[in-house]
Amino acid sequence: MVGGPKRLLYEKVADVEAINNLFRAKTGKAYIDVLNEKTVKYRFDPKMGTGGTFGVNYPHYRDLLPLFGYKSIYMPKEERIRHADLVLELFWKPFQREVFEKTKSWYNCGEPCPVVCKKVWRGKKVDYESFHAVGPFIGNYLFEEAVPLVDLIDRLGLDAIEMGHLVAWLFDVVHTSLLKPEEVGIDDTPAFEPSKFNPVDDSRKNAKLAARLIENFVNNATEVLTLIARNGIRKAARELEKKFQDRVRAVGHRFRDLAVYAAFGAEGYMTPNFYWAPGLIAPMYIQGRYWSNYNPTFMPPEDFAKSAYERAVAEAYIDNAGICRFHRGWAEPVLADLYGLTGVKPPTPSLYRDIAYYSKLAGAEPMPWESKRSRDLVSTLAAELGAKEWKFEDYDDYYEWWVRYKAHLDKLVFS
Ligand code: SF4
Repeated sequence: MVGGPKRLLYEKVADVEAINNLFRAKTGKAYIDVLNEKTVKYRFDPKMGTGGTFGVNYPHYRDLLPLFGYKSIYMPKEERIRHADLVLELFWKPFQREVFEKTKSWYNCGEPCPVVCKKVWRGKKVDYESFHAVGPFIGNYLFEEAVPLVDLIDRLGLDAIEMGHLVAWLFDVVHTSLLKPEEVGIDDTPAFEPSKFNPVDDSRKNAKLAARLIENFVNNATEVLTLIARNGIRKAARELEKKFQDRVRAVGHRFRDLAVYAAFGAEGYMTPNFYWAPGLIAPMYIQGRYWSNYNPTFMPPEDFAKSAYERAVAEAYIDNAGICRFHRGWAEPVLADLYGLTGVKPPTPSLYRDIAYYSKLAGAEPMPWESKRSRDLVSTLAAELGAKEWKFEDYDDYYEWWVRYKAHLDKLVFS
C-alpha cells in the first residue's frame, strides 16, 4: 500500500511500534484498527454485505448511476430507480453471489495489503469503472456480457473509461442518425433509448455491437473511426460536424453535444469517471484521477471550487507519497506525522500550483463546457438536489458558474 519506485516511506516506516504509538496518540486506537475501519468499503462492509468498488457502488449510488452515456440524467427519478433495480438484479447480483457468497476470491494488488480490494469473478478482476464502462453505461445490463468486453479492452491495452465513453457516444450518435451504422462498421442500430430498453435482448445486442465497434476502432476499419482514433472525441466531433452539416441541421444537435468531457486548451480533453458529479468536469487542472470533489453534489461555484481544490491537494499529497488512494481515509490525517517519523522531507505544498502553472504554459488550461450533455450533467444534478439559486436557464448561467468557479480556483491555487 506504500509503493513507488524507491518505496521511500515504506522502507523508512518500518518501525511498527512507532506507527502504533502515533495512532494511539492521535485516535486512541491501534494502527490496524484504524486502517480496517477506514478501508471497510474496499474490503468488506458488513452493513452492506459487499465490498470493493463494484460491490459497493451499485447499491450505494443506485438511481444516481450514469446509464446510457449519461442519458439517465434526463430520466425522472422513478424511471431511474426502475433501471437501477434491473442493474442490481442482472449486473450486480451475479458478481455478488459468486464473489461474496460462494468463492470469496479477494486478493491484494501485489502490495502486502490487508484490504484485499481486488475482487475476482472466475479469474477476472472486477472493478466498478471498467465494468460499468462496458455495462450499464453503454446499455448492457448483463454482467456476463461485460466480462469479454473488459477482456478485449485489456488485451488491446486501451483505457476502459475512455472506451466506455467512446462506445456510448458512438452508440448515441448512430441512434440519433448523426452517423449510419456502417460508418462505424456495425450492422445494426444500438438500442439506446432507455424507455424502450429490453434488458436482456437489448443488452446482448449492444454488447455484440460494442465488441465489433472496439475491434473496428483499433483496426481503422472506417474513415470515421480513423478520424476519432487519431484525434480523440473532442476534435473528431468538430470535424464530423463540418463533414455532416446537413445531418447536424436535420437532427438538431451537434456531435459534441452527445459526449461528456472536460476540455483543456485547444484540443485536449478528459472523459469523466462514471459518476453523476459536476466536480469531474469542473475546471480543475487535473481531471481523470479523482483530484476533485466527485460526490454527487452541487454548490455555488466558489464553495464548489474550494471543496474540489482541497480534495485535489489532499489526493496529490497521498499520490506523491506513493500511498494507494484507497488508504487515504487513515493516511491523510497522519501523513505529515508519518513524514516526521521517517525523516524524509515532505513534498512542497505547491505541487498542485506547479502543475497548474505548467498547464498554463503548455496551453492546456481548463476550458468552458462545449457539449450540451456536459452542461446538462451539471444542471440536472443541481435540479435533482433542489438548488434554488442556480436554474441554468441559458448558456450564460453555465458560463457564469464555470467562470466564477475557475476564478476562485485560481485564487486558491496561485495566491
Ligand atoms: S487497497 Fe490499494 S494497496 Fe491494498 S490491495 Fe487494493 S490497490 Fe493494493
